Amino acid sequence: MQAVATDFGITEALKALGVNDINNGTSTGANNFSSGEIIESYSPVDGQLIGKVKSTTKEDYEKVITTATEGFKTWRTMPAPQRGEIVRKFNDELRRLKEPLGKLVSYEMGKSYQEGLGEVQEMIDICDFAVGLSRQLHGLTMHSERPGHRMYEQYHPLGVVGIISAFNFPVAVWSWNTALAWVCGDACIWKGSEKTPLTSVACQNIAARVFSENGVPEGISCLITGDYTVGEMMTKDERIPLISATGSTRMGKIVAKEVAGRLGKTLLELGGNNAIIVTPDANIKNTVIGAVFGAVGTCGQRCTSTRRLIIHEDVYDKVKNAIVDAYKQIKIGNPLDENNHVGPLIDKDSVKNYQNALTKVVEEGGNILVEGGVLEGEGYESGCYVKPAIAEAENHFEIVQHETFAPILYIMKYKGDVSNALDLQNGVRQGLSSAIMTNNLREAERFLSVEGSDCGIANVNIGTSGAEIGGAFGGEKETGGGRESGSDAWKVYMRRQTNTINYTTELPLAQGIKFDL
Ligand code: NAD
Repeated sequence: MQAVATDFGITEALKALGVNDINNGTSTGANNFSSGEIIESYSPVDGQLIGKVKSTTKEDYEKVITTATEGFKTWRTMPAPQRGEIVRKFNDELRRLKEPLGKLVSYEMGKSYQEGLGEVQEMIDICDFAVGLSRQLHGLTMHSERPGHRMYEQYHPLGVVGIISAFNFPVAVWSWNTALAWVCGDACIWKGSEKTPLTSVACQNIAARVFSENGVPEGISCLITGDYTVGEMMTKDERIPLISATGSTRMGKIVAKEVAGRLGKTLLELGGNNAIIVTPDANIKNTVIGAVFGAVGTCGQRCTSTRRLIIHEDVYDKVKNAIVDAYKQIKIGNPLDENNHVGPLIDKDSVKNYQNALTKVVEEGGNILVEGGVLEGEGYESGCYVKPAIAEAENHFEIVQHETFAPILYIMKYKGDVSNALDLQNGVRQGLSSAIMTNNLREAERFLSVEGSDCGIANVNIGTSGAEIGGAFGGEKETGGGRESGSDAWKVYMRRQTNTINYTTELPLAQGIKFDL
């Protein structure tokens, strides 16, 4: 590959992950039958070509689904704790390769190296969780109303699970799904984002190697590559009972309709429009840190990024000034350089969306507090580096109602009771993450109550961004309603069967119905 200006260990990382051959990133990706058009992966960090992969054709896809379906027949019969043992071995490899994989995530996607490492840590955490879960795929036992009968439920694997993921969490979202689906006994076919194809190949290489060394049938982890047309091969395919799709609400609406049309199941993790409510009792220092990290972390490209700050009028000026001051400290630049806080946006289309949103908010009557703009010159050659911006805006503005995947923070005032802030917070179509900063117990509990936040995630004295794998992750309304990762999210990857066993010599019917011959 071409040398990057300052390498930051990228060449070594690509080598360690087996994706160092620029012309053939897929060469070692087992179960990847791709033979179609070439996709080039350019880094938003420095604009360099990192590698090329081949996209999946219809014929390639047929081979993948056949291999996955065949592999599933063996995998489903292996005891779940033994499947857990395979996931444990896969996790050993993730631990060993954490730094190179974190680096590739940072270089291909543009998030800071610390966040790249954090993403791989999430993979490690969910695998640990899945290993324990492999001994806890419990059903319930119920009392039968009929004498001499036993009733219970059990969970069986679903089959082949299709995973469609977004560019902004190019590796973690795959593992949230696969680690659970694998211990549940499913085979997985993954279509990663066309914007981050090499991270997908790197992950597939790791899984394929571990699986092959441990006699796991080919097809339990499969990768298909390409744009939405490749995703559509799965959404239209009746052989795939569950599609787990992460991405924009626009995509989710199309996928939901397609899969529902064949009565398949979907797990949808879509866009957010997340707010922090700042009450008069908030700890201002923590509020500033939480809000700034939430708004500018990953360059505003997290589904949980803080987009709106709803501040009580009594502390409005104080919080506003503190945040505007904090923005002056933000360093923008190469995300592999740990001195920088903010890296680039994913590509120039995203830069355009960011610019359009800033124009729009002014047109709608907003007031820019921290100017945005595209950075140029040395270190910014990729054209994807932008300045995090802040605008005072009204919640009903069309642009505020919309998720712009960029570092733009809208701030607004509320008066009186916390219920007024909740009306604003809930007054958007999305329902992913939400937060309140307060030391007032009544306000905190009202925020969490049935009349409080309508989001899937509701935090007190923490920002909106970032979540632990132990809880179920996802959101309501246009965020899609799906839950993945911790808690009992595993149940979506299995089918529930209710079993009733009669151990008498009679045949009593339920509800006392008499039927004698
Ligand atoms: P995107 O919707 O453009 O693409 C996501 C994936 O869907 C890609 O792999 C793409 O190829 C595929 N796709 C698009 N249209 C499809 C179709 N019709 N059929 C099948 N597949 C299709 O999203 P993006 O720009 O990659 O990611 C950003 C979006 O993802 C944001 O809206 C963000 O909030 C959301 N996101 C949500 C979560 C969550 O957990 N809620 C997590 C990460 C990202």
